[in-house]
Amino acid sequence: MEEIRYRQVLLSSRETQKENSIIDISGKRIGDGGLTIIAGPCSVESENQIFSIAEAVKKAGADFLRGGAYKPRTSPYDFQGLEAEGVRLLLEVRKTLDIPIVSEIVDASNLDLFEDVDILQVGSRNMQNFTLLKALGRTKKPVLLKRGYAATYREVLTSAEYILSEGNSNVIICERGIRTFETYTRNTLDIAAVPAIRELSHLPIAVDPSHGSGRSEFVEDLSLAAVAAGADALMIEVHNHPEDAFSDGKQSITPGEFEILVKKAKAVKEVI
Ligand code: PEP
Ligand code: MN
Repeated sequence: MEEIRYRQVLLSSRETQKENSIIDISGKRIGDGGLTIIAGPCSVESENQIFSIAEAVKKAGADFLRGGAYKPRTSPYDFQGLEAEGVRLLLEVRKTLDIPIVSEIVDASNLDLFEDVDILQVGSRNMQNFTLLKALGRTKKPVLLKRGYAATYREVLTSAEYILSEGNSNVIICERGIRTFETYTRNTLDIAAVPAIRELSHLPIAVDPSHGSGRSEFVEDLSLAAVAAGADALMIEVHNHPEDAFSDGKQSITPGEFEILVKKAKAVKEVI
């Protein structure tokens, strides 16, 4: 215990492990030099909505379907998610369409409910929920850990350390924009986080340009920049009717726009 508490060299660091970590999720490998695409709505809203988006993103080349069932919203008056029913719908899509899923867990007491969810997301607001991180560390579930919107690189890596030091090495770091003085965009996507995290750590790095800008019209350009910078994965919010979305419609692209984005992102990956 003492040894862990005072460890100077992080388990996630390049000093501990030179080679990139590869997270293998039923044959889908994140961090192996390829580009993993995670896409879907901010929130699961209905059976019809999630099936229709899932079919579209799968067809366009998404490796994973994302969808929030538990939504940690800034205001308690905003849509909080379908909760357990949302997870049930995602699992139904997973089985029917044979696509692995990513969903945010906000409380360790929900771990049983998330047993068949392929990647557990920890949101920006929960990056330093150490009780949750430690509980996830005691599982073997892959975790997508989103950088807190006011967290340094060191802080996101020491948060990852709460998971790694409990014995779970399946962690993917996700850059999703930070809060700066700029208000034109919702957040400022920190592209430098990609090479910086790759230098500091062997963990795979994903980029979320949707929350990173808050603007659907910027999502494609930022995705290409993220791939060019060396991102292992992209996480994109896609909605079949962005204008009617229960959450984050402004930053959600349509399935048609997503299809074009995937083609361009793969082409950029090819070049680098
Ligand atoms: C999300 O992915 O929908 C989300 C809530 O993200 P963040 O935690 O980065 O705000
Ligand atoms: Mn969202």
